[in-house]
Amino acid sequence: MKAFEATRYFFSKAAEQLDMSDELKEALLMPDREIQVQVTIRRDDGRLANFVGFRVQHDHARGPMKGGLRYHQEVDLDESRALASLMTWKTAVVNLPYGGAKGGIGVDPSQFSCNEIERMTRAFVDQIHDIVGPDTDIPAPDMGTDHQVMSWFRNQWEKYHGFNPAVITGKPVEEYGAKGREEATGRGVGTLTQKLIKRLGMTPDKTRVAIQGFGNVGSHAGKFLYEGQFPIVAVSDITGTYYNEDGLNIQKLLRHKLAHPKGLLEGFEGAEHLPLDALLKLDPVDVLIPAALGGVITEDNVDTIKAKVIVEAANGPVHPGADDVLNERGVTVLPDILANAGGVTVSYFEWVQNRQHYRWSLDRVRQELDHTMNEAFEDVWQMAGQHEVSLRTAAYMIGISRVRRASELAGLA
Ligand code: GLU
Repeated sequence: MKAFEATRYFFSKAAEQLDMSDELKEALLMPDREIQVQVTIRRDDGRLANFVGFRVQHDHARGPMKGGLRYHQEVDLDESRALASLMTWKTAVVNLPYGGAKGGIGVDPSQFSCNEIERMTRAFVDQIHDIVGPDTDIPAPDMGTDHQVMSWFRNQWEKYHGFNPAVITGKPVEEYGAKGREEATGRGVGTLTQKLIKRLGMTPDKTRVAIQGFGNVGSHAGKFLYEGQFPIVAVSDITGTYYNEDGLNIQKLLRHKLAHPKGLLEGFEGAEHLPLDALLKLDPVDVLIPAALGGVITEDNVDTIKAKVIVEAANGPVHPGADDVLNERGVTVLPDILANAGGVTVSYFEWVQNRQHYRWSLDRVRQELDHTMNEAFEDVWQMAGQHEVSLRTAAYMIGISRVRRASELAGLA
C-alpha cells in the first residue's frame, strides 16, 4: 500500500465518526497544490546531475501551510502528498494556526558532498521560491536536512524576496533559529511517552524501551527518557541493533555517535550487536519507538512485535493493516500526528519570534512546548474515551474537525 493510500485509510476511519458527506471528505483530503520541479546541479567533478524536487501544499484553511523538506532517495509525489496531509492534521491536533505541506528532493544525500548539497538546495529554491513564504508556506527540516540546509534555503530565498527569516524554520540558533528546536521532536516524544506510561499504570524504571533510529528524533527522545529513568534496552541505526538487557548508557551512545565520522553507532562496545530487524521483535520490551522511516510495521511483521505500547516518533511507521491488528491485540499506539508534533510546535515558536524580532529563552520554549503537547494529549485521550476509538482515530477526529470548521467558516466547504 502506498503512503497516501495509508493516510486516506486513517482519515476515512475517523471521518466515519464525524458525519460528513463524501464530497466534503474528498475536499478535505485533496491536496491544494502539488508541484514537481527539475533540480540540476554541476557536481564537484564537473559532470551534471539531475534530481526531482517536490512541494505539496495540502490545506491552508487554518493558516499558512507548514511542513518539512526531506532529502531521501524514496521521496516522490505520493510520499510528499501523504506527509503533507499528515502535517494538516498534525498542526490541527496541536492547535497551531497552520495548514500542512511537505516536500523535498529524491536524492541520497550521503552520496553527495556538502558543496553539492548546497548547490542542490539553491537550485531547488530557484524553482519553488514563488510558492513559499512566511504567510503562505513555511518549510522546515525533515529526514536528510538540517539547520545548515535551512540556512542556505533562507539565503537563496531572500535573494528574490528580501530579508525575512520567518520564511523557514529550524534555522541555526545563531541565525534566527529557536533555542530548543533541534531537540523539540524528541522532547515531545519523550514527554508524551512519560505521560502515556503513567496513564496506563506502568512505572518508568520498569518500562523497557526500544528505539528504532538514532538520528535527531530518536537520540533526543532516548536522552529524555534515559534521564527520566526508563531503561533503554535497544537502539538501532543502519549499522544494526545495539542491545543491552540492563539498559544502554545513552550518554555513551551519544558520545560514540558524535565521534563517528558518519554519526553512526557502528563499533559501539557497551551492547550486544544484533541484526537490523531484531529491534522490532525484541522480547521482553514494553515500549517500541519507531523513529526512522515510514511503513516499517506491516501486516507481514506485526505478529513478531511484543511491545505493549508503540510511540510513533516517525511519520507513518505503521501500515493500516498492522494498525488494525495492534488495536485488536490491545496494543496502545500513540499516533504520529500527536507523538511527533513537538517539532512543528517549536517551529511555530521560531516563526513567532522571527515575526516579532524577539528571542525566547530555552526555558520558555520548553515550558510552552510541554504545555502544548500536554493539552493536545488530553484532548486526544478524552476523545478516544468518549467515542471508544483508538488514539489514532481520536487524533484524526480532532484534526479533521478543526480543519472542517475553519473551512466552513471561510466558506471553502
Ligand atoms: N518535519 C517535521 C514534521 O514532520 C517538522 C515540520 C515543521 O517544523 O514544519 O513534523
